[in-house]
Amino acid sequence: MTRPVDVAILGAGIVGAACADALTAEGLSVAVIEPAVAGGGATAAGMGHIVVMDDSEAEFALTRYSRDLWDGLMPQLPAAAEPERCGTLWVAADAEEMGAVAGKAAFYGARGVATDTLDARALAEAEPNLRPGLAGALLVPGDWVIYAPFAARWMLDRALARGAAFYAAEPRALERGRVPLPGGAWLEARHIVCATGAWATSLFPSLAIRPRKGQLAITDRYPGFVRRQIVELGYLKSAHGAASESVAFNVQPRKTGQVLIGSSRQFGVTEGGVDRAMLGRMLRRAIDYMPALARLSVIRCWAGFRAATPDSLPLIGPASGAPDVYLATGHEGLGITTSLGTARLVADMILGREPAIAAAPYLPARLEQEPAHA
Ligand SMILES: Cc1cc2nc3c(=O)[nH]c(=O)nc-3n(C[C@H](O)[C@H](O)[C@H](O)COP(=O)(O)OP(=O)(O)OC[C@H]3O[C@@H](n4cnc5c(N)ncnc54)[C@H](O)[C@@H]3O)c2cc1C
Repeated sequence: MTRPVDVAILGAGIVGAACADALTAEGLSVAVIEPAVAGGGATAAGMGHIVVMDDSEAEFALTRYSRDLWDGLMPQLPAAAEPERCGTLWVAADAEEMGAVAGKAAFYGARGVATDTLDARALAEAEPNLRPGLAGALLVPGDWVIYAPFAARWMLDRALARGAAFYAAEPRALERGRVPLPGGAWLEARHIVCATGAWATSLFPSLAIRPRKGQLAITDRYPGFVRRQIVELGYLKSAHGAASESVAFNVQPRKTGQVLIGSSRQFGVTEGGVDRAMLGRMLRRAIDYMPALARLSVIRCWAGFRAATPDSLPLIGPASGAPDVYLATGHEGLGITTSLGTARLVADMILGREPAIAAAPYLPARLEQEPAHA
């Protein structure tokens, strides 16, 4: 016999786990439904970079809000979540990209995010393994790195300790106010949150979500080889461009001393294994920026799928035609960062509260097609 709940959450990736944590903290009764390992989807495949982004005002608002929430959560996270405030270095290859550094510094500065501009010499001193001759960089010192699958599991465990239920199930269809469970049982819920990442279209086929494959490689332990999360400025073109395939230099220091190397983006691919050609392109790009990487041993490579939307913003809010269902998906390459802000927005919507940031840019209704007029 299943107990009716206030909220059933589908998916225990970092977004579903953060929603379970936020909703149980509000005193709501919650059940989490997950067919596989909690945190084992895109959350386990990601880099764990908690980053404030400036591609649009809406992206900035959600990433900034979320990073502030992470700032508050970090002291509570166990060491196994590997929180490290290493900051982000946005690297400029030439004078033209230094112009972009100035633009980024102005954007962040006007919105109260601390940055520091590094010239060529300061950059070489900050990261001696970068190739000589780079023009400089923008340092955003407040950004973090975490081990996301552990953080997701920890948030889920906090929700379970507050009384949340967990069901191992993969519902293929929803009915108004209830979720099917194995053995013909039904879970009754006043609200349903769909946090199934790139799988969201299996429940809502008309959603404007496309899987965008990404690959990463991790090295053996080389403590101090990289000090900051280092990203080429061209990353934004790769992340937000519509190209079917792209790579960008993006390396991250892990607390273990390992170096996590990214990143690639591919549309139109459903095969989940490592694509050696893309991996080769990605590693060559990384070695171009950081030649000494070629001497390190890569010990593991993997791939995962980001849930991409046409405007690079997530879908957070009521699903069309299903008023008791809230979507919390479509976070593409920022879902680890924005999981906490998403969870707060979902909790505010369910509780009928005014959110801390405007929810309109993320409402799923923005991507619904206008009805044709006669
Ligand atoms: C290579 C790569 C690098 C990345 N780097 C970063 C980064 O540095 N920083 C950042 O912020 N983000 C990053 N991301 C993006 C980030 O990983 C994702 O946006 C985020 O993990 C999405 O979390 P999620 O909970 O929505 O999805 P997932 O983690 O995929 O979880 C969805 C869950 O839903 C479950 N599920 C599926 N179908 C059903 C069903 N019918 N019912 C119930 N459950 C179901 C799945 O089993 C899964 O556990 C990266 C992604 C990739 C691929």
